[in-house]
Amino acid sequence: MTPGNDALRARDLAVLWHPTTQMKDHEWLPLLPVKRGEGVWLEDFEGGRYIDAISSWWVNLFGHANPHISEAVARQARELEHVILAGVTHEGAVRLAEKLVEITPKGLDRVFYADSGSGAVEIALKMSFHYWLNQGETGRRRFVTLTHSYHGETLGTLAVGDAGLFKEAYEPLLMESLFAPSPDCTGLDPADWDAHAAVKLEELEAVLAAHAGEVCAVIIEPLVQCAGGMRMHPPSWLKGLRDACDRHGVHLIADEIAVGFGRTGSMFACDQAGITPDFMCLSKGLTGGYLPMSAVMATEAVYQAFYDEYTSLRGFLHSHSYTGNALACAAALATLELFEAEDWHARNRRTAALMREAVAGLEDHPHVGDIRQTGMILAMEMVADREPMTPWDWRERRGIRVYEHALANGVLLRPIGNVVYFLPPYVIGESEIAQMAEVAAAGIDRACRPS
Ligand SMILES: *Cc1c(COP(=O)(O)O)cnc(C)c1O
Repeated sequence: MTPGNDALRARDLAVLWHPTTQMKDHEWLPLLPVKRGEGVWLEDFEGGRYIDAISSWWVNLFGHANPHISEAVARQARELEHVILAGVTHEGAVRLAEKLVEITPKGLDRVFYADSGSGAVEIALKMSFHYWLNQGETGRRRFVTLTHSYHGETLGTLAVGDAGLFKEAYEPLLMESLFAPSPDCTGLDPADWDAHAAVKLEELEAVLAAHAGEVCAVIIEPLVQCAGGMRMHPPSWLKGLRDACDRHGVHLIADEIAVGFGRTGSMFACDQAGITPDFMCLSKGLTGGYLPMSAVMATEAVYQAFYDEYTSLRGFLHSHSYTGNALACAAALATLELFEAEDWHARNRRTAALMREAVAGLEDHPHVGDIRQTGMILAMEMVADREPMTPWDWRERRGIRVYEHALANGVLLRPIGNVVYFLPPYVIGESEIAQMAEVAAAGIDRACRPS
C-alpha cells in the first residue's frame, strides 16, 4: 500500500529532526513528501508535481533521476561500493582527480577528497594554517573573511562565516575571524559594480595591511555569496583580490561549493577572472546532486610543503571515513561526461536570459527592490520600501509566504529571508521557466501585501 502525503508526514514528525528548521513550524507548515523525481520535477505521493526551482538546495545540475548518472552509479555499485582510501586506491578516485586537475584553473594540481562542503572548507583552513606552520611561520593563525559570507555550519566553518542567526548561539565556541566588507552590489546598476567593488577591495587590503604576518588566508565565495542572500560582485574584484593576496603574502581560498560546475556561466567562477586560488573547495554540483562528496584542490607548492619524512610531523594527517567513495566518484565522472556531451554553458546562457525576461514584469513592483543575476542564479529582493531600499523586518517572515504560495502552485522555492531566487537544474525548459516565474511573481505580490 502506498502511503498518502499525510501518512508519511505524521510518521516523519514522530521520528525526524530536519535540517535548518524550527520543528515547531511544522505544526502549521506541512512537509512536502517526495516520492520520485524526474528532470526538474518532484512528485509527491498523491500525484502532485513541483518544479525544483532551487536544485534541491543547489546540488542538482542535470535533473533528478538522470538516466546517465543513475546508470553509472548502478554499474559502480555492482563492482565496488566503497573502499578505504588510506593506503588504497581505485580507478574512479584517480580518474576523477585527473579530470578535476584538468578542468579547474591551471595550477591546482592536487586533489584531497572529503564528504561534505563543510568538510572541504575545514580542510582548506587546516591546510593553509599548517602550510605556514611548516614554513616556520607560527604567528599566522587568523583568517580574513567577508560580511554576508557562508562556508558551512561546523564550528570551524561557522567561525569564518557571517551566518547571523545560524552562528549567534555558538559564538563562544568559535575562533575569531577578521572581517572585511563584502563587495555586495545589491541595489546597484551593473554599470557601477566595478567601481563599487574597487572601493571594497581597498577596505579588504587595509585589513591585510593591519594584520601583516598574522593572516593565513582570505576565504571567499567567488562572484555570488549564495547563502548570505545571493549577493553578487564582478570578476574585477576577484582579479584584484588575487593580486592583493599575492602582494600581502597570504593564501586565497575560493569556496566554489555553490558556484562551481557552471552555475555562474563558466565552469568555475574563478575562470571569469582568470585567476587561480591557492585552494578551491568543491562539493554540491560535483556529483550532479547524487551523493555527498567534496574535494579540495590545492597547488603543488602547498602539497610540497607537507611532503617530508613521517617523523618531521609535517604531513597532513586528516581523514573522513567516506573519503573518495567509489559511488560518489562514479556519479561525479558521469556528471562531467554530461558537460562534455553538450555545450551546457551555451544552453545556460539562453536559459538565464529566458529567466530574466520572465521576471521583467517585477521591475516596477513597489516591493521588489532589486533583481540581480549571475549566470543561472537570479535573485529578487522583497523590500518594505524601494526608495530608499528598506528591508522587511525578518520577524515578519515574508519569504515563507512565497514558499507556501509556490508550493500550492507546483513550484518548490525556498527564499533566503526576503530574497526569492531561482537556481534551477540546467535541464529546465521554456514552459517550466514560465511557470516558475509566474508563480514567483504572484507569490511575491501576495507576500508583500499588508499583514
Ligand atoms: C553549502 C555550502 C557550504 C557547506 O556545504 P555542506 O555540504 O552543506 O556542508 C559551504 N560553502 C558554501 C559556499 C556553500 O554554499
